[in-house]
Amino acid sequence: MSYESTSAPHDPVFSPALSPDEGVAAATALFHEAFDCEPDGVWYAPGRVNVIGEHTDYNGGLALPIALPHRAHMALRRREDRTIRLVSPQTRETIDVLDLDQIGPKGTPGEVRHWNAYVAGVAWALEQDGLGPVSGFDAALYSCVPLGGGLSSSAALEGATVVALDEVNALGLAGSAEEPNDAGRERLVTSCVRAENEMAGAPTGGMDQSASLRCQAGHALELDCRSGQVRQVPLDLAGAGLALLVIDTKAKHSHADGQYGSRRAACEKAASLLGVDLLVEVSPEALPQALERLEASGEDGAELVKRTRHVVTEIQRTKDLVALLSDGQALAGDKLAEVGTLLNASHDSLRDDYECTCPELDVAVDAARAAGAYGARMTGGGFGGSAIALVDADAVEQVARAVVQAYAREGFGAPAFLDAVPSAPAGRLA
Ligand code: ADP
Ligand code: MG
Repeated sequence: MSYESTSAPHDPVFSPALSPDEGVAAATALFHEAFDCEPDGVWYAPGRVNVIGEHTDYNGGLALPIALPHRAHMALRRREDRTIRLVSPQTRETIDVLDLDQIGPKGTPGEVRHWNAYVAGVAWALEQDGLGPVSGFDAALYSCVPLGGGLSSSAALEGATVVALDEVNALGLAGSAEEPNDAGRERLVTSCVRAENEMAGAPTGGMDQSASLRCQAGHALELDCRSGQVRQVPLDLAGAGLALLVIDTKAKHSHADGQYGSRRAACEKAASLLGVDLLVEVSPEALPQALERLEASGEDGAELVKRTRHVVTEIQRTKDLVALLSDGQALAGDKLAEVGTLLNASHDSLRDDYECTCPELDVAVDAARAAGAYGARMTGGGFGGSAIALVDADAVEQVARAVVQAYAREGFGAPAFLDAVPSAPAGRLA
């Protein structure tokens, strides 16, 4: 008998969120150690999980993210010069030093390496967007958003940076987490997206940054990715005896970035063949005819049909889910079953038409459904990352266990789990 481990091989492992006090303590201790002085404050921004509306953002459609209780924490002190000094636990031995007057987009001489691009990139982007000049700063980062898990650890870095810089530079655009300046935050989102696109070179849409800055606790964020308009949709999962279980597959397929680009390119091509700016302009009623035209358009007609069908039906599913959640009735019975059906249909469309799932995502979703989830789907960009399952609060453990067992049967590495409580947007903690 072995006493080496207290947990059985099939015990699911949950990634806990740091409490606000723990986040402040961790970021502050790191700041003291690195810079030997007091920070001006500690700011944070959450990761996100998207409930439905996948690969719709760059098509001008709707998404429905929630902010996670898992956050990036940043202790920061304003400097009087143009120097930026950065430290994170992953790079504790070294403090990275940058010059705001020298940094520039990826592929230029001022290119900024690795995670520094997300943080210094925000300062650069604020200035590019006419909100500067901003001062230099020293910052220590401590995040508990799983890195690269499709839960937007990158947007959490940008969000924490932008609310900190907003305050120490007196831009007056963020407000507080409790009383956010939403119009101001919409402008800050633009700079965060610019940092990610141009400095980090990741061609993502704006959903992640909008979620991190514009969600509200107890709500999902209906985000119109074309107009930037948002609406808070009540989502009191605990009150309904439910939980949203996040399954981090820990899988990251190496071709993910290229595939993401090729999906975007296919959507742009389909839109152009159909004579619209963005696929959001194709209504469900006009879809059959649009698909016929795409089918006949050339060699890649069959591919364009599938991609377009996903986008148009996904936008409609998002509208339907928002309507259900907004009807003022309890999330139970037939309504709960309908919500689950929409989540399931979203995954099936992403698997069959958008072809952006992977075995780890499909096995997680199938196992969760078989173990009693009302609905389950992949979330985020796909090709790895995370899935979500809507389950009874008291069934979380049992569903997670079923996923772990299915992974063991398939020979996959163990997944990790998070409890996705709809949480507050970026703000200040201390
Ligand atoms: P996701 O946003 O889904 O987690 P991305 O690939 O968009 O995945 O972003 C992950 C990147 O964000 C990492 O490679 C790293 O550069 C940066 N990052 C996120 N969290 C941290 C952290 N705590 N410390 C340093 N870098 C981080
Ligand atoms: Mg990201």
